[in-house]
Amino acid sequence: MTPNRELVIDLHTHSNVSDGTESPTELVAAARAAGIDVLAITDHDTVAGWDEAAAAAAEAGIVLVRGIEISCAHDGASLHLLGYLTDPDDADLMGELDRARESRVTRLERMVELMAEGGIPITYPEVLAQVGPETTPGRPHIADALILNGTIAHRDEAFQEWLTDDSPYYVAHYAPDPVRAVELVRAAGGVPVIAHPFTRTRELAVTDEFIEQLTAAGLFGLEAYHRDHGPEEVERAEALAARLGLVLTGSSDYHGAGKRNRLGENTTEPQILAAIEAAASGVTPVLRP
Ligand code: AMP
Ligand code: FE
Ligand code: FE
Ligand code: ZN
Repeated sequence: MTPNRELVIDLHTHSNVSDGTESPTELVAAARAAGIDVLAITDHDTVAGWDEAAAAAAEAGIVLVRGIEISCAHDGASLHLLGYLTDPDDADLMGELDRARESRVTRLERMVELMAEGGIPITYPEVLAQVGPETTPGRPHIADALILNGTIAHRDEAFQEWLTDDSPYYVAHYAPDPVRAVELVRAAGGVPVIAHPFTRTRELAVTDEFIEQLTAAGLFGLEAYHRDHGPEEVERAEALAARLGLVLTGSSDYHGAGKRNRLGENTTEPQILAAIEAAASGVTPVLRP
């Protein structure tokens, strides 16, 4: 590391154990090439990429924060909760994630069935071929099957046409309530931060009162600096954080080739990472090479 250079900290990325397109090893290599000093791997509803990422990070000489991004549901709208440094052996949290992943399988099959009935050229085996053995299945894997069979060129097109939350083909999956998810992350010794809380594509807006309720349940921070947020959303997050005593993070939400988000496009300050680390139980430490 060169002196006088701020650490580049990116606390939200995905590998192909969820809907990223690179293996945990490739993700770490991409992070190193992008000049990232501290990387968090935060796959949807799983810790399956942690061990491979840890080995790759030690090899590449970058600091690794192990995390998850929990898909939650509130009033029928989705909300994503980042959980940093949780105990991977915590039965309550892991049980909830298992339940969500199982429900995602049946949900995906039903969505594909509806799409095929609607005349979209897609079959369930084509989609399953896009999902690795330990991978959390999701809508992006339907998009990947449509890319492979030549129907579309990028995941974006599938999300514009057929995969939105209000699409006739959309089927919900089991997802915990955010309050419960915050409590589970804390009980597992981890640190909960709401991912892109004010994403404008959401169906239902998250109210200030709801953030207050989550804070009372143990919420630690808001991911303010994210490409889904404009200046208004950033300002709102900053005002809420100041009022409620929450920390603010910034991250890329990198998905490899699956999304346009680039590693390090938003970053988190070193003192915020230190606060997150201090708030965790230590069962799952930050890994330093
Ligand atoms: P699911 O978890 O199955 O409900 O699918 C939601 C996932 O789809 C999110 O984690 C996003 O990463 C991904 N996603 C949403 N919109 C897009 C888009 N326009 N292009 C690529 N991926 C997207
Ligand atoms: Fe995703
Ligand atoms: Fe998310
Ligand atoms: Zn994400």
